[in-house]
Amino acid sequence: MDAPTQAEGYSKPSRPSRPSRPTKREPRKPKFQPMKFVDCNTDKPRIFTQCYKCDVPLLIQTHHDGSEPIEHRVQCPSCNHTAFIAMTPKVDQVIVLQG
Ligand SMILES: [Zn+2]
Repeated sequence: MDAPTQAEGYSKPSRPSRPSRPTKREPRKPKFQPMKFVDCNTDKPRIFTQCYKCDVPLLIQTHHDGSEPIEHRVQCPSCNHTAFIAMTPKVDQVIVLQG
């Protein structure tokens, strides 16, 4: 019996054998934003932080007027992206700290 050999003409392209490593995909780390709260005991707490996008140092002046804190997407005056998300009743002012 001469059954055709199936393996013939069917060889994988030879490649240098490399130990197959599972591709490691690092989860995207949340970016660290330095934050410092000052005047917390007043009705006008201030937040020293950095823009999430362009890292410019920012001073966010908030106003606790007694209303419910809501999520404020603080816009960066420098790059116009969302610099910081502040949970506060009001955002009075965003100041770029430079120099
Ligand atoms: Zn920015």
